[in-house]
Amino acid sequence: MKICRFNEDRIGVVLDGEIADVTTILESLGNAHYPYPNHDVFIQNLPRLLPELAALSKTAPRVPLSSVNLLSPVANPGKIIAAPVNYADHLHEAVSQTELNHGNKILTIQMVGLFLKATSSLQGCSHGVLIEHADRRNDHEVELVAIIGKSGRNVPKEKALEYVAGYCIGLDMTVRGTEDRSMRKSVDTFSVAGPWMVTADEIPDPGVLDLRLTVNGEERQRANTRDLVLNTAELIEFATAYYSIEPGDLIFTGTPAGVGPVKAGDVIHAEIASIGAMEVAVHKKRNIV
Ligand code: MN
Repeated sequence: MKICRFNEDRIGVVLDGEIADVTTILESLGNAHYPYPNHDVFIQNLPRLLPELAALSKTAPRVPLSSVNLLSPVANPGKIIAAPVNYADHLHEAVSQTELNHGNKILTIQMVGLFLKATSSLQGCSHGVLIEHADRRNDHEVELVAIIGKSGRNVPKEKALEYVAGYCIGLDMTVRGTEDRSMRKSVDTFSVAGPWMVTADEIPDPGVLDLRLTVNGEERQRANTRDLVLNTAELIEFATAYYSIEPGDLIFTGTPAGVGPVKAGDVIHAEIASIGAMEVAVHKKRNIV
């Protein structure tokens, strides 16, 4: 099932280019009390809600997909985990191009480990990316994103995919420079997730997916997730050796070679097989005073 969030926090099931508005499903989530959960309650309850979502989608009012604002498919991830240099060809370009490494020593993912992106950087595809540091190089990185479905700690890779609720497309937008990744990749709007989540039952093997990114129609990145250094299951094992994972946590699995700059006015098109495609416009950040 393809599940989206759209417009004013509405929930939809994507069917044949349309969205069945199933927002009434949220009534069955109950009322949370302070201190509120630090995970995503909708994703946590998804196994219970899926049959009801399927039934509701048959009779729910439909709206054209093209008419809505798509939000991040996960509203409240407790954390966004991300994998650096997780395709061998991107490791090679990062080591060889000073515009990418800025003199930082590029280590393998096993040596450098994972990093976290601020949840405040999360944005759906319709909103677009806002360039705040136009004097710097701002790069696109297309990535498969795994959406965690249940709590776990020290999860072995053999069981790791059982912890995945679904997948979406991610853009791990990046300011190039010398600062720590967690700062350069956490600018507001620099974690794009969309266009919807595809439940894990529709993607039994996340290690065989073609992914592709173009900017203004020009192809920049093309790869297949089989070339990940650490695959989705291995990333979950690696992550949970350090962090607990919770429902709604996002894991950006890393980007292949071909990263490159974008500027205001550009349109990024990103697609991953079995998920879909999304258009993300790049805008100049207008500072609100
Ligand atoms: Mn990345």
